[in-house]
Parts: sequence; structure tokens; C-alpha cells
Amino acid sequence: MNPMKTTDKNISRRDRIRGCLIGGAAGDALGYAIEFCGEEEIFSRFGRPGITEYERDAHTGPALISDDTQMTLFTAEGLLAAGVGEKYPEDRTRMRHTVARAYQDWLRTQEMSWEEARKVLAAETGREECDGQSGQPGQDEAGPPLRLALIPDLYSPRAPGNTCLSALRGQRRMHHLPEDFIREPQNHSKGCGGIMRVAPLGLCCPAEAAENVAWEGAQIAAITHGGLLGYMSAAVAAQIIHRLVFGPDGLSLKEIVREARETAAGLFRGYQDLEVLLRIIDLALELSGNTAPDLENIHRLGEGWVAEETLGIALYCALRHTDDFSAALTAAVNHRGDSDSTGAVTGNILGALHGYDALDDKWKTGLELHGVILRLADALAGPAESQR
Ligand SMILES: [Mg+2]
Repeated sequence: MNPMKTTDKNISRRDRIRGCLIGGAAGDALGYAIEFCGEEEIFSRFGRPGITEYERDAHTGPALISDDTQMTLFTAEGLLAAGVGEKYPEDRTRMRHTVARAYQDWLRTQEMSWEEARKVLAAETGREECDGQSGQPGQDEAGPPLRLALIPDLYSPRAPGNTCLSALRGQRRMHHLPEDFIREPQNHSKGCGGIMRVAPLGLCCPAEAAENVAWEGAQIAAITHGGLLGYMSAAVAAQIIHRLVFGPDGLSLKEIVREARETAAGLFRGYQDLEVLLRIIDLALELSGNTAPDLENIHRLGEGWVAEETLGIALYCALRHTDDFSAALTAAVNHRGDSDSTGAVTGNILGALHGYDALDDKWKTGLELHGVILRLADALAGPAESQR
């Protein structure tokens, strides 16, 4: 079988952008149900190969997304607020700060109930009442623009990472945020809380140079994750997604991964731990071509709690199952590690490659905030498409 390439003209940029965000949310939701389960538990509950379809929430109905998708949506909102166009805005510091402020909105969703938040929001706008938004499609054309802080369903902690919480709480008290989060690290964490939320960096600004996408992906991850591997891994993921959506026709996923590896090798030359990052990318490329079972290969890449392992597992699953989104997602979540994050990044990559329309209906039906995610994807596609 010929590996799927990015030549398919039937897939519009808008469809790839939608596919990336919905694909990521699908992997996140599939994995969230088993995020903290060991393999014995997963396979005794679901049989082999493990969980293959959403577990719906017993109380509210839909398959729940986790903090990974929540924060990805706030990344998108922050970039839109910063005014992304053909390229990132010239004032990169302002762009980073605008995204950091969007993360403060996310932090509020983790600390307050909607009822508490609506009072705070009403006070901020000088109104007596603050209404929520449903975020469903159909509301967009005539109604007010989507605002994540007004969506009651987002006010729900979904196992948020402690590093994200503590870094953002620290920034809430700062008078001046750093201009450059890489040069002024907020901590030394290389957890996967950065890489899991940077996809939107690759979903806007078609004319931006690949290495700038990688660098800003790293900067946005470093808002909360100052460990080198924490942000270098995010750089690779952001560039891969950007190339899948806006890159030249005819590249295979493998070529795009190799190219992102070279960008990282140049961009981070001399950085400690660069070799670890490059080695895990090489290992993912190598393992994707063997005949061993997925689980055996994934064990060689790690568990995904740290960013370079999340990247390695996601790349492996996407490369091994390039033409089969569902098989890739199943492989990406059914292991003892950080299933929702490895699922989210795998889904981002292959969703961007296949596009939303090509995804199986089972990933679109019953997915929490499906309409909100599509609206944000289309908002990102707006500035991107207008520059074609
Ligand atoms: Mg999560």
C-alpha cells in the first residue's frame, strides 16, 4: 500500500484543521477513560486490543475530553486573540503573553464553578448578569463570537496537570511575564503538558517558516514547562502539524517527521538533552517499520508521561498506522502510560493528515464540545484560508 501523502487536493485546509482538533479530542477522550489504568486492567475490562470506542459519561452522556483538549482550545483562542494572519504577529512577545492570558482563563475553569465564574465575569464587564454560550454550530453567524470563558461545560477539572496549575498560578501573581519563556524557564518540568496543547500553533499562519513554528511551539509549551525536553518535543509536534496542513504537496508523513527532526537539530543545537529527543524520534521511525506488536514497540518508547515519550509514542502510532486513523488511536491509548496525551497527539497528527470528513463517524458522535471545537477550528481556518 502506498503511504498516504499530503497531495490529496480533495482535502481542504479547513478540513485538515478541523481534523487535527477533532482528531486530537477523539484520542484524548478515548484515552481519558483509561488514563490511570494498568494494562492488566485495560485488557481484562475491554479484551484485546483494549478500548476501541468512547466510554460515555454515565451522568452527562458524552465522551469526556480531558485537560489536554481544554488547554488546546485555549491555545487556539489565545492565538486568535493575538491576531494571527498569514504569519505570526511581528510582536512575538505579545503573542506569547496573549496565549498565556488565555491559559489564565483556563485556570479559572479549573478553580471555579460556572456559577462562581459568571459572577466574576459579570463584575468584569460591569453587567448584572453574564450568560453562558452553548458553543454549538449555528450560533456563530449572527450571534456573538465564541468565547471559551462563557462556556459552562468547560468549568470542569479533568485531571489537570500539577505543573500547569502551579506555573499558571505563579504567573497570576507576576507583574511582568517573561518576554522569552525558553530563556526564563518557569520550572524544569519536561512533563507532557506542553506538547499536548500546541497543535493550534501549526493550524494558522500558512506563510510562516517551519522553524518559526517550531520555535513558537516551544515558547508556548515553555509557558508552563521549562524543561528542555518539555518544550523541544512540542516544537517538533507543532512543525509536523503545520507541514501537514500547509506544507508543499507530495510529502509523506515520514518525510515531514524527518524534516521536523532536522529543524529541531538545528534550532536547538548545543542544548542539553537534544540527543535524547533525536534518538526517540529515530526510534519511533525505526519501530514503525518492524513487525512487532504495537504494545511491545510502545514499551520501548516509554509511557508518555514526559514529553519526549509522548512524542515518540504518537509518532510511532501515526507512522505505523498512517492510513488507519482508528487503528492508530487504539494503539496510542491502550498501554499503561498517559493514554489521553499519547492519544491526543496521535489524533492531532493523523487528523490533520486525513481531514475531518474522512474520520469515522464514531469519533464525531457523542464527543463532548464537538461543536465548540469545530467553531474554533473554523475560526483558525478563517485567517489561514483568507491568505491562500
Ligand atoms: Mg489529560
